[in-house]
Amino acid sequence: MKTKFIFITGGVLSSLGKGLAAASIGALLQARGLKATIQKLDPYINVDPGTMNPFQHGEVYVTDDGAETDLDLGHYERYLGKALTQQNNYTSGSIYYSVIQKERRGDYLGGTVQVIPHITDAIKEAVVGLPTDEDVALIEIGGTVGDIEGQPFLEAIRQLKNDLGKENVLYIHLTLVPYIKAAGELKTKPTQHSVKELRSVGIQPDIIICRSEVELDEDLKRKIALFCDVDRDAVFTGVDVSSIYEVPLKFYEEGVDQKIAILLKLPAKNAELGPWERLVDRLKNPKGSVKIGIIGKYVDLTEAYKSLHEALIHGGVANDVKVELEYVNSEKVTPKNVEKKLKGLDGILVPGGFGSRGIEGKILAIRYARENKVPFFGICLGMQCACIEFARNVIGLEGANSEEFDPLTEHNVIYLMKEWYDFRTRKTETRCEESDKGGTMRLGSYPCKIKKDTVAHVAYQTVNIDERHRHRFEFNNRFIDQFVEQGMVFSGTAPDESLMEIVELPGHPWFLGCQFHPEFKSNPMNPHPLFRDFIKASKNEKAKKDK
Ligand code: GLN
Repeated sequence: MKTKFIFITGGVLSSLGKGLAAASIGALLQARGLKATIQKLDPYINVDPGTMNPFQHGEVYVTDDGAETDLDLGHYERYLGKALTQQNNYTSGSIYYSVIQKERRGDYLGGTVQVIPHITDAIKEAVVGLPTDEDVALIEIGGTVGDIEGQPFLEAIRQLKNDLGKENVLYIHLTLVPYIKAAGELKTKPTQHSVKELRSVGIQPDIIICRSEVELDEDLKRKIALFCDVDRDAVFTGVDVSSIYEVPLKFYEEGVDQKIAILLKLPAKNAELGPWERLVDRLKNPKGSVKIGIIGKYVDLTEAYKSLHEALIHGGVANDVKVELEYVNSEKVTPKNVEKKLKGLDGILVPGGFGSRGIEGKILAIRYARENKVPFFGICLGMQCACIEFARNVIGLEGANSEEFDPLTEHNVIYLMKEWYDFRTRKTETRCEESDKGGTMRLGSYPCKIKKDTVAHVAYQTVNIDERHRHRFEFNNRFIDQFVEQGMVFSGTAPDESLMEIVELPGHPWFLGCQFHPEFKSNPMNPHPLFRDFIKASKNEKAKKDK
C-alpha cells in the first residue's frame, strides 16, 4: 500500500492538544493493524527546542539518535510504542538553515532563493522523506492557522495534495467549540472562522475535531458541517477526559478512525483496543495511592517535566496505585524546613535540570531521603546531586560539587569530560568548544552495562541496556574508590567502564541515581522498569508506615 498522509492543523487557539489528538489517531490506526508514523512541523525559528526554556516551551524530548525535539514526540512515542528519530521533527529554523546552507554552497546556481518554491520544497522533502514503509504518516503542523510563521508549512501541505494524489491525502482540523456558561450554549463561530482562514490558504479540511467541555449534539455537528463544507459524519467531538490515555477510546467511540478509513480507502477492519481498555481500567481503578515529591525548580509546571510525569503514572499503573505528585520548589528547601516539607512523601525524586538555581535544596532533599530511608530516584542532575551529597556528607569531601556550579572546586566529583569513546560511532568523541550552546551535550541513546545482583539488575532483569542521555557533565572517575569504600555501588557503566551511568546504595529501601533519562523510554503499555520499581518501593514503604 502506498503511504497515505494525514495533515493535522489547529485553529482558534493553541494548547488544544493537537499532539495528543495526532498520537491518539496514530494509535487507533495501529490498532486497525496499520503501520503508522507521526511527524511534527514546528513553525518557530529555533533550529531545535534544545536551547529553549522549558518554562516557555515545555520539556525538550530526546530521541535515540540524539535529536532534541518538541515534547509532542514524547506523546507520539508513548502512543505508538515505537522509537522516532530526527526526521520526525522539523522547525522553520531547521528548514531555513538547510536552505541557507545550500545557498551558501552555491547549489541554487545564482538563482533567487524564495519561500515558494525553495522553503516549501524543503518542507515537502521533509514530509516525503519520512520512511516510506509506513501505511499512514500523520503530519502535525504546530501553532494555529493564521500564524505568520506557519504560512510556508500550510502552503507546502496544500501543494502535497496534488503532488501525492488526492486519494492519498487527508486534512484534519482541530478547533475549539467553547461553552459559554452565561448563555448555556456551545459556540461554533470560532470554528467557522478558523476553517475560513484555512480555506483562504487553499486547504479544505476533510474532518473537523472540536475540542469541547461537553459533547456536541447532532444539530451542532450538522451546523458545523454545513458552514465548513465537510460531511455531516466528519465532525467529531474531542471531549475533555480525565486521563489522556482515554482519548484513543473516545475517538473510536466517535468513529474517527472509521471515517478516516473510508476517506483514505484504508482496509476495512475493526480497531483492536483491548490493551487501551485495560490500561484505562487500571488507571481508573487504583488500589491505593503513593505520594511522590518532585524536588525541582519548575514548580507546578507539568509541561516542563512531561515525560517524567507520564513515566510516574506508568509506574503507578504497573503497581495499581494512583501516583499523587507533589512539586517541591528546591529553592525554598532549607536545613530548617526540609523535614517539614518532605515528611509526608512516600518517595522523593530529583529530576534533570541545568544551572545552579535550587541545587542546595535538592542536595538537602537527597540527604533527607538517604538518612530517613525514603525511596529516592535521581535522574541526570538528580544523580549528580546524589553524588555531591554522598561526597560531602558520607565521604567528608568538603565543598564537593559539580564543575557546573563551582568550576574551581577541588572535589569536582561531577566534571566536564573532554573526551569519551562513543560506542555508536566507534570513535573517540571530543566535546566541542563551549562557545556554541547548541549541540555540546552527550545526546541520545548509549549502551550501558548492568552489574548483576543490584537494584538496577532486579529492575532491568538483563545486563545490557540502552538509555537516552542529555547532559554535559559526568561522574569523575578519580573519585570511584572513595565512593566504593563508603558503600556506593556503581551498578551501571559504559560497556568499557569509562562512564558511570547508575549509582545506588545497598541497605536502603531503594536509592538509585542514573545519568540518563529513563522517562523518555517509558510507555503506558510497557512501564519503564526503574519507574515501576521506584513506585513499588514507595508503595511498600508506605504500607510499612501505615502498619
Ligand atoms: N546540568 C547537568 C549536565 O549538564 C544535568 C543535565 C540534565 O539533568 N539533563 O550534565
